[in-house]
This record gives sequence, C-alpha cells and structure tokens, in this order.
Amino acid sequence: MVRPRVDVFDNGAVRLGANLICDGYAEGFDFRVQTHVHDDHMGDFNRSKGLQYIFMSKETKALLISEFNADLEYRDNIISLDWGIERELEDGTKLTFVRSGHMLGSAQVVVEHPDGFRCGYSGDFSWPINDVIQVDELVIDSTYGSPASVREYTQGEAESRLQEIVCQRLRRGSVHIHAHRGTIERVLHVLSANVRVPILVSKRLINEISVYQANGFALGTVTRIDSQEGRIALNGQSYIRLYAKGDGFHNELVEGTSISCSAYMARPDDPVVEYSERAFRVALTNHADFEGTIEYIRATGAKTVITDNTRSHGVDLALAINSNFKDVNACPSTNCPAFSPN
Ligand SMILES: [Zn+2]
Ligand SMILES: [Zn+2]
Repeated sequence: MVRPRVDVFDNGAVRLGANLICDGYAEGFDFRVQTHVHDDHMGDFNRSKGLQYIFMSKETKALLISEFNADLEYRDNIISLDWGIERELEDGTKLTFVRSGHMLGSAQVVVEHPDGFRCGYSGDFSWPINDVIQVDELVIDSTYGSPASVREYTQGEAESRLQEIVCQRLRRGSVHIHAHRGTIERVLHVLSANVRVPILVSKRLINEISVYQANGFALGTVTRIDSQEGRIALNGQSYIRLYAKGDGFHNELVEGTSISCSAYMARPDDPVVEYSERAFRVALTNHADFEGTIEYIRATGAKTVITDNTRSHGVDLALAINSNFKDVNACPSTNCPAFSPN
C-alpha cells in the first residue's frame, strides 16, 4: 500500500496533504480548517490564530465570535467559506466545505491537490445527510466506530421520549437539562413547541441561541436566569433550566429532576436510562452510529480510509471497514507527534 497522504497527529490535528490540518495545530502547516466549535476539535486554536490561516464556515465563525467575543471578526487570517464553493489556496490546492449535519456550521472538508488527488475529512457528522464529499483518501471520525454502537431507535423516538419525561416530571417541580452545544438547541426546539413553562438559560446560552436563530433555526423564547422574570420563575418551581458548556451543572440538585442528553449508549434498543425517578439520561445525539458511519464511507467513494484513533474507536472501525469493503484499505491513524522533539 502506498503511504496515505492523510493522517491524524497525537494531539488530534487531522492532516490533509502536506500543508493543511484540521481541528488542531502542528508545526510547518500554513493552513488550518476549523470543522466546528466543539471543545475536542478546538485544540491549540489560539496558537493557530497567531501563526496560520484558519478557514471555517460563516456559522462557525459567528458561534466563535459569540463565545469569545474576541478579535476574530477583524483578523484577516480568519477566513469564512461559503458552502460548496471551491476556494483556491496560495499553494495551489483547492478547499471546499460541505455541511456535515452535526451542529450549526459543522463541515466536511475536501482538499483537491494540483495533481487531481482529492482527500477529505468527515469531521463529526450525522447520518443520513444530503451531500457527501467525494474523495480518494478519507479521514473518518470514529466516535461510533465500534460495531456495538448501533441504535435500534430513531432520533425522532429519542426526542419524543424526552418530551414525555419532561412533561411528566414538570408536574413534580423543575426540570434541569444538560447537553452539548448543538444538542441543547435541539432540546429547546423540541420543548419550546410543547411546554408552557418558562425556559431559563444563562446569558452565554442566550447569545448562542441568537446565533442559531439568526441562521434560520426557529427556536422558541427563552428567559435569562438573572433577569427579573427569571428570578420570579425560579421561585415558582415550575420551569425548565437548560445547561450547556460553561453553565455548571450542579452536583447537588435540591429540587426537581435532572436529565442529561448525550450520545452515550447504555443499550441499543432504548434511548432512555432511568437512574432514579429524579434522574434520567436520554440518548439524543447528532453523531452517526456505526451503521451510518459505514454507509457514509461507502458514499464518499474513498479507496483509502484513515480512522481517527485519537478521539475514539479507530482500531475497531478500521477492522470493520476492511471486512465490509473488498476494495477499500483502512487503517487507524498513526497518532505520531505533532511537534518534533528538539
Ligand atoms: Zn462535535
Ligand atoms: Zn468530536
């Protein structure tokens, strides 16, 4: 097998060719792509900001500006790309973003080299999605790369179970819901259409929700927890509180029910885990499961696949690809050091 031109470094930075990396920093690369804003993809962002050109979707840029309130808007090395429009970089490679359906702004990435060779990175993705990148070599996210990660329920079912639990538990007091960014907006979307109690959020989360709204998501009204209405609602005990990054989910809940919405799968046939009558987990996720991952790989047409073995099940997934496809070669990323030791 010829040595692949793509790989993943030990710090999670995904290398597409010789001059571009995604979601991390490594020495000697001029270009970085930021596929989305989740923390496990933001490694060394500040270092990149000082040293590289960083490409991202407009939505990702808006979310980063709302989060850090920083100089990002004015820096000329931070460049936002439109969906599906090829951008030629100074080294002659061409970069294209395609939506990945994982959260607002999340992208699949294609780099086409002057010799016609095309490589790409799935980023975190959901399945099914409308448009899949077409590449020769692919770095695939392996979050649900284990064949055990199969869901026997749909995300629609998971959403209605969440709604059921919330409505039931609201009769007993407040409901506190924790989720990742992107998923928390889905929770809000599901609940705001169906419940009549105030939904309380932090100032930070309100800003993030406004970015979603500005980008066409019809999310219901929320109340800032430190506003006067928020304080009144808190005393009434019939309210929903949403928590995402930085909102500190309390270890001790004095009153009410807590629900954690995350992709962690306790069992394949039921999206709900009931820890007690006051504590639940609902498997709401914006990640493809194992079967979705296999279908995604088939749709890309890639003949060489590197499974990201820094974030999760890279070895399991590479084995599964090699046994599922006759004409595809898969191996886990080498996770070699991003920084040369000297
Ligand atoms: Zn993510
Ligand atoms: Zn991730």
